[in-house]
Amino acid sequence: MVTAASRREQLKAVLEQARGCTRCAQLAATRTSVVFGAGNADADLLFVGEAPGANEDKLGLPFVGQAGKLLDQLLGEIGLGRGDVFIANTLKCRPPGNRDPLPGEIANCQDYLFRQLELIQPKVVCTLGNFATKLLRGDPGTGITRLHGRDEIRVIGPRAVRLYPLYHPAAALYTRSLLEILRADFARIPDLLALEPPPQPAPAVVEPVVPEPEALVEEVAREEPPGGEQLGLF
Ligand code: URA
Repeated sequence: MVTAASRREQLKAVLEQARGCTRCAQLAATRTSVVFGAGNADADLLFVGEAPGANEDKLGLPFVGQAGKLLDQLLGEIGLGRGDVFIANTLKCRPPGNRDPLPGEIANCQDYLFRQLELIQPKVVCTLGNFATKLLRGDPGTGITRLHGRDEIRVIGPRAVRLYPLYHPAAALYTRSLLEILRADFARIPDLLALEPPPQPAPAVVEPVVPEPEALVEEVAREEPPGGEQLGLF
């Protein structure tokens, strides 16, 4: 049985790994910090945004600018706060000038997100905007306009989760109609959290390779030092 404490320790190890990441030469050279994510490492609800901006890069925390304030407000409206959720991003480093993440950067960074998902074990994953939605659905052809507010069960790596795409709060900051849609989509989150968690796929069974008894005898014979003395116990 893998405990929450051990998953948390493993998550910290992934954080340490990400902190030293140089897979994207440009991002590694220009970042101030790796924004791994923050919140409750045992949360039922995980948000996945796009990438850190200037404020996030400076503070090393996700969603600390204007979009973050809106996220906090929307969370508050459904009775939740940052301590109830985990917030991560598709990219852990800020793209210079806040340009869009490049496909190669998303590919380089995706394992960190998949490990976060595996270790936090959320019931519901809210993707914020196109980049997170396309990555976690594995479908680059279908965008957030069609998908927002529709929950679906998806198997991501070893975990089945309820995926719930939402508009990115930054898009809703300046467009009133999008804000109302985002608010209405947010209002469904408590009901999704109250549903039974999706059934998990059977864990992959790694069959131990058991050598044939004859092969074992041969191996032991080969390991015996010349003269057949017993040198030590292992
Ligand atoms: N936008 C994001 O997608 N992520 C952040 O952390 C901040 C703004």
